[in-house]
Amino acid sequence: MQLQKIKLFMYFPPEKTDKPITYRLVKDYDLMFNILQAQIQPNKKGRLMAELEGTAENIEKGLQYLKDQGVQYRIFNKNIIWHEEKCVHCGACTAVCPSRALSMDRNEWKLTFDHSKCLICELCVKACPLNAMDVNIFL
Ligand code: SF4
Ligand code: SF4
Repeated sequence: MQLQKIKLFMYFPPEKTDKPITYRLVKDYDLMFNILQAQIQPNKKGRLMAELEGTAENIEKGLQYLKDQGVQYRIFNKNIIWHEEKCVHCGACTAVCPSRALSMDRNEWKLTFDHSKCLICELCVKACPLNAMDVNIFL
């Protein structure tokens, strides 16, 4: 069975921040849930950026569950591409990357890019002097 992966921002209303919503997504819809960034405090608005992985059907059901719970979400329709052939491994992009998706291998002095940690903030795109970081938009 083919699995799909989506990245999304979720906005929790204050009365939902202490509910086990993410747990239910995993348990009831068999989705893998990878939290990339979280700002959640009890009884305050919460924000979560995460990756969801599962069958297309389960992802759809999981998104419907979020809607039913009053959780708003926004699915990302873009990702960041690293054009390795243009990169000179100067490290400038690592200084602005807030999630450490970009880091330097200090032994080989080479850039590494961990896509799973990327928040798609696009700061590296602006920081790279050689246009080696790019935004890819898909529908
Ligand atoms: S700023 Fe550009 S050239 Fe420098 S390490 Fe990052 S991607 Fe490579
Ligand atoms: S888009 Fe943002 S989080 Fe992703 S690699 Fe670039 S600087 Fe890091």
